[in-house]
Amino acid sequence: MNLKLVPLAALVIARASAADPASAPDNLPPHELTEFYAPVPPVITAPAGGIPSDAIVVFDGKNLDNWESAKNPGQPAPWRLEDGAVIVEPKTGDIRTKQSFGDIQLHLEFREPVKIVGDSQGRGNSGVFFMGLYELQVLDSYNNPTYVNGQVGSIYKQHVPLVNAARPPGEWQTYDAVFLAPRFDAAGQLLRPAYFTVFHNGVLIQYHVAARGPTAWRGTPPYVAHPAKLPLQLQEHGNPVAFRNIWIREITLPETK
Ligand code: MG
Repeated sequence: MNLKLVPLAALVIARASAADPASAPDNLPPHELTEFYAPVPPVITAPAGGIPSDAIVVFDGKNLDNWESAKNPGQPAPWRLEDGAVIVEPKTGDIRTKQSFGDIQLHLEFREPVKIVGDSQGRGNSGVFFMGLYELQVLDSYNNPTYVNGQVGSIYKQHVPLVNAARPPGEWQTYDAVFLAPRFDAAGQLLRPAYFTVFHNGVLIQYHVAARGPTAWRGTPPYVAHPAKLPLQLQEHGNPVAFRNIWIREITLPETK
């Protein structure tokens, strides 16, 4: 029981009830003591197969208006639109959202190239960089061995996915993730790391794993203090991976208010 939620008067009633066999024959407090009615959660709509009404749709297949070049901020996102998807354009660099985000729920869909080119990290490599710093790996890991902390669903070079839920190249796949931004104090010291929980094709692959610092190919760099909100970034790694249906819900968890 959370004593902070129970008014003192209620505790008195609970003691009285416990002493009264007629009102509490089993010696348990009245059920009302553990029921509360405020604050009322916001009402949203969540249509089957659709987008929650409180989501921010950052890519709906029609244009890249919500995105920009990551290496040339302010310039248009240089990737290609095709059949409601955005395709990585090799050698153009990453793209990122114009809007910045902190704690979020993310949904996106990705498709690995049906024409298999390369192997290991060279096959269908892209990535979802939360805050532009912490990568959830995108890779064609369907019959494509590589280091396990770099396969699809890994928090790159840090956390191995619980299972490999990859679909074959050419099939659309989904990521649903909860990302909690790291917290820093005023002096820039880390108070709390970033956390990931991820579902790949509906399957839990990462549960509340802590990022050890920003993603790096070589070495293990430490956290460096950064703003509470930063853009979401998609990686250009030379492979024409497709993305579609990308939406974000900004979340506020009770303990992080
Ligand atoms: Mg990658």
